[in-house]
Amino acid sequence: MASNRPYHVQWLVTRKCNYRCKGCNVWREQDTKELSTEEMIRGLDVLRELGVIDIVFSGGNPLLRDDIDEILGYASRFFVTTVYDNGSMALKKIDALRKADFVAISLDTLNQEKNDNFKGVKGSWKKAMQTIESLHEEGIRVGISPTISQSNMDEIASLTEYFAKKEIPVWYCLYSHDTAADSDQLFKIGKLDDKFEITDREAMVKLCDTLLEMKKKNSNILITTKTLNTIKRLYLDGERLWKCRALQNFFMIDHLGRVAGCHLRKPVASIFDLPNVWNSENFEDLRKVYRKCDRCIYLCYIVYSLHGSVRGNFQIVQDNWKSARLFWKRRLDFKPLSLAKQQ
Ligand code: SF4
Ligand code: SF4
Repeated sequence: MASNRPYHVQWLVTRKCNYRCKGCNVWREQDTKELSTEEMIRGLDVLRELGVIDIVFSGGNPLLRDDIDEILGYASRFFVTTVYDNGSMALKKIDALRKADFVAISLDTLNQEKNDNFKGVKGSWKKAMQTIESLHEEGIRVGISPTISQSNMDEIASLTEYFAKKEIPVWYCLYSHDTAADSDQLFKIGKLDDKFEITDREAMVKLCDTLLEMKKKNSNILITTKTLNTIKRLYLDGERLWKCRALQNFFMIDHLGRVAGCHLRKPVASIFDLPNVWNSENFEDLRKVYRKCDRCIYLCYIVYSLHGSVRGNFQIVQDNWKSARLFWKRRLDFKPLSLAKQQ
């Protein structure tokens, strides 16, 4: 039986955003409420207790939080941390970012006008490019994270090559729109937009083949071979080679500290109660439902599901340098306090 250790967590630490991306719902439903710094630190302690290894801080734009410096400083002592920015805030928060393990800047194309249109903000492309260059020069581990969609699929290989050659790592999101798995879903992210919806399946298969080839020559392409082969198969014949491990090996937390298996599912606990309910019958039942779920193709959830075991984590380590840091920061065989008693 698969272990229930949660390796990966995404924490949507704020619902505020300063951009207006076309395929995103977040900025349409902003909320000024969020956890306090003290609550964030307490929440991070809970994640330590559960044995979490890897935390992605996103939002909204997490860098809009005044206390991001403190959050990253604390989190990076115990976890492999990645923080997202759309390229607008990173230079203002550069000292905070020195504390993170990875900074991901979202950039979808090398075409300035097109990118500004996707982001809904004039000048966003230029700002993102300057930010990436500056962070890289400063020695901050910056990478770019394009969202692959029908609108930029034919540019992904050249975009990847451009940055990988400069030794700036690239990892990806896959455009997906929310089809709520529960009516009271945790957080609305992907907005349906026909121009982004991937319809050319053959081109997607070709792109996977191209990236698989490119990966052999450049270690800055940080999507795993297993993930690329899985997506390729999905677009080739619709086969889902993974079983979802939401609420088992990964989960989401929102800006109010509510926990759900994924953002399309309803909140099922508060972060502060999580150790009490993690091994409950209710959670076991939810895991069974989620494992059969096939409602989404959000790439991060596919990666977490494919690599959501000790073996899966070692495969990431073998595949690229990004998670080699997992080895050093937190031993994969660590037994989380609350779970160790029951194994
Ligand atoms: S995709 Fe990110 S940067 Fe763009 S509006 Fe949504 S949360 Fe903001
Ligand atoms: S497949 Fe998993 S991540 Fe996607 S909606 Fe279902 S439970 Fe959530």
